[in-house]
Amino acid sequence: MGSIGIMGGTFNPIHNGHLLIAENAREQLSLEQVLFIPNGAPPHKRDKRIEDGGHRLRMVELAIADNPAFVADDRELREKRVSYSYLTLRELHEELPQEELYFIMGGDSLRDFKTWYRPQIICEHATLAAAVREDCDRARLLGFARELEQLFGARVRLIQTPELSVSSSGLRERVRAGETIRYQVPEAVRAYIEKNHLYVEG
Ligand code: ATP
Repeated sequence: MGSIGIMGGTFNPIHNGHLLIAENAREQLSLEQVLFIPNGAPPHKRDKRIEDGGHRLRMVELAIADNPAFVADDRELREKRVSYSYLTLRELHEELPQEELYFIMGGDSLRDFKTWYRPQIICEHATLAAAVREDCDRARLLGFARELEQLFGARVRLIQTPELSVSSSGLRERVRAGETIRYQVPEAVRAYIEKNHLYVEG
């Protein structure tokens, strides 16, 4: 029996913040693998323009190519329906009954978690692994963790990780403004965005 990390996200585009929390989770939780699962059409972002799923998946593949423990999983994109994490977690639990699943997320996602659809089911199938960015963050996150434990019987682990204030929306804005995104995404992702003229129009 091993442990598998699940890193879901819009990944529009994937960036070094995502990679850094996934790698720290891998190390600190002794994960065998981290699955990167780009969302089809996330319920909370339905009204925003989501770059074509094929591009988002390709960027994930380019970003993780040099890490043998990282795997791209396109199951939510193939479904072409609204993505619900609880359905994906339930499916993964059925496929990998011997594995311990860790659902990796940023601290902001832990804060919002109780508003997600069917959080209880997610907690039944996976331990939540939330990134802590600095010591003052830890007390706040422990508060959210305690609340989720009471509400849903959640198991929560905190992952220590350096703060990287990069976001996909910030990166899209930078590209639109003609500003550099070098060193905020892997070079292969930067080159892919440039070659395919992604995010140049709003
Ligand atoms: P957007 O800016 O469009 O909202 P995002 O950069 O937050 O996007 P998502 O794909 O929505 O990216 O995020 C996937 C997961 O990665 C979420 O759990 C989010 O909390 C986490 N995350 C995103 N950016 C960072 C970062 N810089 N450091 C740590 N975690 C992050």
